[in-house]
Amino acid sequence: MQLSPTLEMNDGRTIPQLGLGVYKIDDGHAEELVAGAIGLGYRHIDTATLYRNERGVGAGVRASGVDRGEIFVTTKVWNDDQGFDATLRAFDESSALLDLDYVDLYLIHWPAPRQDRYRDTWRALERLRDEGRVRSIGVSNFHTHHLERLIASSSTIPAVNQVELHPRLPQEGVRAFDTDRGILTEAWSPLARGRLLDDPVLARLASAHDRTPAQIVLRWHVQLGTVVIPKSSSLDRVAENLDVFGFELSDDDMDAIAGLATGERTGMDPDDNG
Ligand code: NDP
Repeated sequence: MQLSPTLEMNDGRTIPQLGLGVYKIDDGHAEELVAGAIGLGYRHIDTATLYRNERGVGAGVRASGVDRGEIFVTTKVWNDDQGFDATLRAFDESSALLDLDYVDLYLIHWPAPRQDRYRDTWRALERLRDEGRVRSIGVSNFHTHHLERLIASSSTIPAVNQVELHPRLPQEGVRAFDTDRGILTEAWSPLARGRLLDDPVLARLASAHDRTPAQIVLRWHVQLGTVVIPKSSSLDRVAENLDVFGFELSDDDMDAIAGLATGERTGMDPDDNG
């Protein structure tokens, strides 16, 4: 069975580089999908309060039969729950739904700059980490100016910044900033929600490597050194997406994929969400 390699975070812990995203997976389907993915070799699951499937995710982890300590589970605090006390309450709810003793990584889902509560929210994450209920803490959708402001107000640098990242939106500025500060960049919507998979450049590379376009894109992420969490509702595609560690893209291939950048987002600009 193939397992993803792990990457080290700035708090000394490790995270499997490739995980399963479960946005839009129904709570009723999550248990079976997560247990099935773990059976295929996945050791990292990415959920969020917003996805309303934490119960199914936790049940899937338990049903997998794999030791809890071998599986990395991320969840996220939603915008409506930002603020010190509200975040602690939200975590209690997530924790009860997941029913897993601890969470490996807890993220602030969006900076929600108009609310201006992410620094208080961050203090709550530090508290949860100090209490051992959460192992690592990080952020999501933070532009560099949000990160700079957060870092200036805290002694903890986020372990991870999970952002929209795919060949159309390679996030060079965010990646360079994150690397400079020791923050691991994690790619959400790594396949641009499937919208770029019929691109002729990817078709050419897929044919040359005898792989699928999705595998080419995921391999590009792996070689960039980012954490990557593709979502699929089908176990066949879940298996396909993990099978990206047995081939390599050349520098020319990487350059060809870099040529797909348009700056186009599939989601909102973080300055406009909340
Ligand atoms: P992805 O880029 O992972 O794309 C998912 C889409 O691609 C689905 O339509 C899926 O269809 C399809 N797909 C998956 N694998 C294949 C394949 N091998 N071949 C063809 N099509 C494929 O999009 P997501 O937006 O789901 O992002 C991934 C994860 O990132 C989320 O699930 C979530 O965990 C996280 N995320 C985080 C956000 C944040 O704000 N922090 C925001 C959005 C996502 P099918 O299911 O039918 O296979």
